[in-house]
Amino acid sequence: AKDSGRNTVRFYAQVMESNIQERMWIEEELDYALKEQQFRVFYQPKMHIATGHITSAEALLRWFHPVRGLISPGEFIPIAEQTGQIVAIGEWVVKKVCEHLTRSTELGLPLLPIAVNVSPKQFQHPQFIYKLRQIFEETGVDPSFVEVEITETTLMDNTEETLNKLLLLKQIGVRIAIDDFGMGYSSLGYLKRFPVNALKIDQSFIREVHDESTAAIVTVMIALGHQLQMHVIAEGVETEAQLDFLRQHGCDEIQGYLLSKPMPLNEFRDFVRKNYG
Ligand code: C2E
Ligand code: CA
Ligand code: CA
Ligand code: CA
Repeated sequence: AKDSGRNTVRFYAQVMESNIQERMWIEEELDYALKEQQFRVFYQPKMHIATGHITSAEALLRWFHPVRGLISPGEFIPIAEQTGQIVAIGEWVVKKVCEHLTRSTELGLPLLPIAVNVSPKQFQHPQFIYKLRQIFEETGVDPSFVEVEITETTLMDNTEETLNKLLLLKQIGVRIAIDDFGMGYSSLGYLKRFPVNALKIDQSFIREVHDESTAAIVTVMIALGHQLQMHVIAEGVETEAQLDFLRQHGCDEIQGYLLSKPMPLNEFRDFVRKNYG
């Protein structure tokens, strides 16, 4: 028993060491990733439940490393958030999205608003709004075609500065959605204080919506959003049963594998051509 205990300790030490090495590797490689253009923006459509229309899409970052292949955002975004690299990466994402929007207009495609994920550090950066405006000016994109998805963590920083930034975004015309709603530990008080357009119910609730108590929570979340004049979106919708539940309870939009996985720009454009209406 004593021996196995010692082995366990050694095992954890090894795992921790390899985790640290992995983090250091990612941190170092992330610097090249931007320069060497290893990132791509994928798009996942959202559908209006009542009409079946495609209304918008979410931009999701993909990292194609020349040796390691595809590295998922879950692996590198939290590290980039800690090191501050997310500020430059996030700015690149907004720029790409705006360039894609401009090109879509040139191609005569129907223009759909695109939601971009903004991490807390990126949002809190003093130049955040300034950089956004600069990109809108450079690309000529109408800011009302861009939505920012922020998490409750960003709003928990319940300061005047956060409020002012959100009001400024609203004034510019940028839409604001709360991502992963229900996962935070903040009070609901911030909801009435901040100018938010949409609530995205976290996929962990949708996954368990067949369960009675989860269904009750989702029902209340939809009603809450509507009471506050917000649009309610369910993410991670994978089955017809989940869609049926959401339709019955008046949820506005869905996003998830049932409709489509996130796809590269060309595929997304084909999808819009085929399904827009
Ligand atoms: P998120 O913003 O909550 O995005 C939703 C995630 O759920 C995406 O994972 C998406 O591919 C996945 N998903 C969509 N539909 C389904 C479904 O039906 N079933 C399941 N199981 N999953 C589904 P992804 O693309 O791996 O991104 C993970 C997270 O990384 C995102 O979560 C977001 O927090 C972050 N992220 C991605 N791109 C960016 C970015 O450009 N900037 C920042 N700051 N964060 C990003
Ligand atoms: Ca999101
Ligand atoms: Ca989410
Ligand atoms: Ca998430």
